[in-house]
Amino acid sequence: MKILVTGGAGYIGSCATKHLLDAGHQVDVFDSMELGHPEALDPRARLFVGDLRNDGEILEAMRASAPDAVMHFAAYALVGESSANPGKYFRNNDAGGINLADAMERCGVKRIVFSSTCATYGQPDAMPITEETPQRPTNPYGESKLAFERMLSWYAAIHGFRPVFLRYFNACGAEGNLGEDHAVETHIIPNVLKVALGQKERVDIFGGDYPTPDGTCVRDYVHISDLARAHLMAIESDFSGALNLGTGRGFSVKEIVEAARRVTGHPIPAAVQARRAGDPAELVSDPRKARETIGWSAEWTEPERIIASAWQWHRAHPCGYAGKR
Ligand code: UDP
Repeated sequence: MKILVTGGAGYIGSCATKHLLDAGHQVDVFDSMELGHPEALDPRARLFVGDLRNDGEILEAMRASAPDAVMHFAAYALVGESSANPGKYFRNNDAGGINLADAMERCGVKRIVFSSTCATYGQPDAMPITEETPQRPTNPYGESKLAFERMLSWYAAIHGFRPVFLRYFNACGAEGNLGEDHAVETHIIPNVLKVALGQKERVDIFGGDYPTPDGTCVRDYVHISDLARAHLMAIESDFSGALNLGTGRGFSVKEIVEAARRVTGHPIPAAVQARRAGDPAELVSDPRKARETIGWSAEWTEPERIIASAWQWHRAHPCGYAGKR
């Protein structure tokens, strides 16, 4: 297949691009390069530099690429930033998404695998989270992803699109030379590893009074190699609909810090601070539907192993890609 990957120079998009190419597919990448990294871009892929908010740029790329399917990773993805600047999120993730969907429609492309998120569920009443759990986002980021899921459902009903919504839990880890390098790093694993690298004095644990076994938030950490593999399996299947991508196992922030201490051999000082606004106490997937439909289940289930892969990448790239920071 020929696949147009938006955001193919980003953290998860670059890894999915690699898996698609390794499996023999042809890949064109559409990326604004605002947050993407040239070093993460697979040299086997053709790059179209463009911005989804510019309808002409995505239409031109869609026409030139003429893909069989689209994988849509390009988006803003910071919960905190979205809460301060919702318009930035709705403009890029939704208005930009409409430009992408319209370009697909005009070029007769019906198949799309969309990077959605467990943030579309908000703070569910019951764990684990199934695809039937009500979607009630608690921040504009989650709302922007849910809105685009819904829009794509209308394009499915009206134009015959066959969308797959992959709702990621906490993406993490590294594969080979592809790792996590965000301009603003808010995620727990890279922040813990920055302490081990001597770039930060300590890690702040946001909240120690949650109704969880040790008082810190519980999350379902899913490795980017598993996410990339799920995209490949989804695009090669006939499945259309929503799938949770997680391991089905939850680990607390304290457990992650302890696992990182074991992996790095560094004491990693940690201090419990106030809660971070908008953090649900617990988010753990029920990943059964992905296994039953496309045959996917996570292979990376141990935090030590996941953190070890990230640690390897961070040690090799202590200042991120190209040592830019
Ligand atoms: N977290 C933390 N310290 C940090 C970064 C994150 O305690 O420096 C916590 C955060 O409050 C959440 C969990 O770690 O409970 C995972 O946060 P992350 O930002 O990695 O992912 P999210 O769950 O927000 O998508």
